[in-house]
Amino acid sequence: MRVYCNACGSKGKISGSPRFSGDISKHYCDCLNVECGHRWVATLAYSHTLRKPTTSVDQRLLERLSQLPKDSQVRLIEQLEAMQPGPDHHQVIAPQLSLLHHTA
Ligand SMILES: [Zn+2]
Repeated sequence: MRVYCNACGSKGKISGSPRFSGDISKHYCDCLNVECGHRWVATLAYSHTLRKPTTSVDQRLLERLSQLPKDSQVRLIEQLEAMQPGPDHHQVIAPQLSLLHHTA
């Protein structure tokens, strides 16, 4: 993002991390004109969305999970596997599938 000094019109530089407050972020700026030396705070505000973000629920979940400690990740995977139908379920389904192929 390009910023300009409102005192001398020279290019400015954003320094440091922005401070967020809801949909508004404040950016510390320095004028690149050494003879000016102006420092100021610029405000950037969210207006409206033009295209929805591509990050899916899956991606956000994966990011959250990757931040968990390793043992928590392993425990969650074990819980998920316990919720999935086991090999018994597959054996029940398999004859029905072969029946379908036979009649088709
Ligand atoms: Zn300036």
